[in-house]
Amino acid sequence: MIRTFAELDLDSNLLEAIEEMGFDRPTKIQAEAIPQALDGRDILASAPTGTGKTAAFVLPALQFLQDFPRRKPGPARVLILTPTRELAMQVADQARALAKNTKLNIFTITGGVQYQEHADILATTQDIVVATPGRLMEYIEAERFDCRAIEWLILDEADRMLDMGFGPTVDRLSSECRWRKQTLLFSATLEGKGVEGFTADLLTDPAEIDAKSPLRERKKITQWYHRADTAEHKLALLKHILTQQAERTIVFVKTRERLAELRAQLESAQINCAWIQGEMPQDRRNNAIARFREGSVNVLLATDVAARGIDLPDVSHVINYDMPRTADVYLHRIGRTARAGKKGSAISLIEAHDQPMIDRVARYIKEEIKERFIKEMRPQHKKSVFKKKKKTDTKKSATKKSASKKPTSKKSAPKKKSVKK
Ligand code: ADP
Ligand code: MG
Repeated sequence: MIRTFAELDLDSNLLEAIEEMGFDRPTKIQAEAIPQALDGRDILASAPTGTGKTAAFVLPALQFLQDFPRRKPGPARVLILTPTRELAMQVADQARALAKNTKLNIFTITGGVQYQEHADILATTQDIVVATPGRLMEYIEAERFDCRAIEWLILDEADRMLDMGFGPTVDRLSSECRWRKQTLLFSATLEGKGVEGFTADLLTDPAEIDAKSPLRERKKITQWYHRADTAEHKLALLKHILTQQAERTIVFVKTRERLAELRAQLESAQINCAWIQGEMPQDRRNNAIARFREGSVNVLLATDVAARGIDLPDVSHVINYDMPRTADVYLHRIGRTARAGKKGSAISLIEAHDQPMIDRVARYIKEEIKERFIKEMRPQHKKSVFKKKKKTDTKKSATKKSASKKPTSKKSAPKKKSVKK
């Protein structure tokens, strides 16, 4: 069992960069994946969000590039695929930080960037390219990118890439990179639909690593919820939390329309916020994230699509202003806080109709999510009353009954009675 970075077969220039980044010891996924990757194995790894998967593939890739230095200029040797452009930039940033004592070149190829800006990249020597699948495929089709020199193919957030429909594109990219030596696949979970077949095609006899976090790394997220009587009550709770309790907060809403509405409401309450949503111009997204990252605003409003895979440092609170549609999305959302061992809070603001969802989440994560109250803002409605009124349940059983059971039982019941008489 490896406990220190020094025990990993990494050159001192990498160890120095690691130290400068303030990493004291490898996380579990790093300790397990790095030696296997350096041994030449394919990797199939899953580990929870925030446990340092990026360095777990970037470090062995950098070491590989140093062990087998290129002899002449040429195209990329390591290709990292990520589901979103923000994530691509983050991975590239972290790779550049870890590679700061090397001469290796790291580039990104993502959507939302003007074609021209990439033009000069393609003419220069690249060692690592971090790309989103769709845009990279366009480049390959236009013969502006060459995969033939790729030796390592790395897939980050493979589950998300599948969710976002990138499966076929990734398959094509995989065959474009068919001369590669190694493939590394990282994912938060390997349970999603289709992941199994997907990985079987990509990987050859992979080392399987399931790094359920040890207690030390497990996130210290305190979760609770507040009940709101109405939408106005919910907004009042949010304002109170943002101004009285929270420090750096991501507020999740379910749609762009909801985001626009909330943004206006918070602005008129003089609460400054940045916001990100799907299909937003790249520079505006970057701008919003930068403002939040630098701390010029402490509240970031986000939709789920926009927030996928982004590592926003030092988030103290995640607030579910709208409950997510599934328990899995809830987990992804709250994974934005308490990263790499820090503490965090996850607060859900729920109306009566959200009660079944919060109960479902608690069952899914096998943890209790307690209710809390804010003085003078207590809900007026009683919880149990609304618990019984599970809309979905009553509706479903009602329609089922009227469709099949009810008519037959109605018909048969009087018959039986008449027979008895
Ligand atoms: P994941 O991809 O598993 O969600 P990241 O790679 O984004 O996680 O890492 C989450 C955070 O933890 C980042 O801010 C990263 O710099 C930090 N981190 C990574 N490895 C370590 C380590 N060994 N010690 C301390 N912090 C780390
Ligand atoms: Mg990651």
